[in-house]
Parts: sequence; structure tokens; C-alpha cells
Amino acid sequence: MYKDSFNEDHQTEGEKRNILGKVGSGDMNRLMILSLPALRAGFALKDSKNNVGIHEFVHLIDKADGAVDGLPESIMSQQFVLPWLNLMHQEIEKIKENDSDINPYGATSQIEFLSVVSEYFFNQPEKFKEKHPQLYSLLAKIYAQDSA
Ligand SMILES: [Zn+2]
Repeated sequence: MYKDSFNEDHQTEGEKRNILGKVGSGDMNRLMILSLPALRAGFALKDSKNNVGIHEFVHLIDKADGAVDGLPESIMSQQFVLPWLNLMHQEIEKIKENDSDINPYGATSQIEFLSVVSEYFFNQPEKFKEKHPQLYSLLAKIYAQDSA
């Protein structure tokens, strides 16, 4: 846990400190770094779809099966893999066409899509269910909880 946002060299002072959280690789494998103020802000803002703690934690869940690929197979039944891939790609296209309220960062890759929609799913479950019933239903099965 860091006292503030940090830069690529993990420094919390000086310039270019635009990172709020990350999941490590190499020597930092299986570790997560979070800015404490950013973590708190993610849970304090009730109407926000953003939560760096959830975002980075979901990257770790994704990584638990050995592959960071947007398919959290350590917690996901095999039967949901294809439906998830299909829904994910449909929604990524909508984001790219500016036809979705999901954070555009989620369209950068399958990996980021999983983390970004999970933030929305856990932070604003009712709204997410209303706007994205299919995604909600599948994530509720993957995470084994119906938060809405
Ligand atoms: Zn990410």
C-alpha cells in the first residue's frame, strides 16, 4: 500500500505519478500495489463505476489460472467461457462505437474489459443489471453472487 499515486519506478514523489494501482510481474509477480487514497476513494464514491481496488484485484483473479487473458478460469465454469467471450467482444465493439456507458478503457483489451466491468458490477450492481442484463447475469454466475 503506497501513500499516494506513483510512477513507473514506484516513486510516490516527483513527476509523472499517474498510476493508482498495478499488479506486478517478474520480481513483483503475484503482488499488487495500490495508492491508499485511491483505494479509499473507490469505496467512498457511491455513484462511481471506478474502483482501483476491485480493478487490480480482478487482474490477480484473472492471473490465478496462469494466464492473464480476461478469462478468470480459476473461478469460472468452462461452460461460461464461450458465452463470456461472445458477450465481451460484442460489448467491446459497442464501446468502440461510443454506444456503451462502460469505461472506454475496457475496450483496450479483454484483460482490461474484465477488470473494468467488474468495477461496475460490484460498485453499481443495480444500474449495471438494468443497463447490461446479459453481462450482469453472466458475471453473477462467474462471481457466484447476485449483488443487485
Ligand atoms: Zn487494468
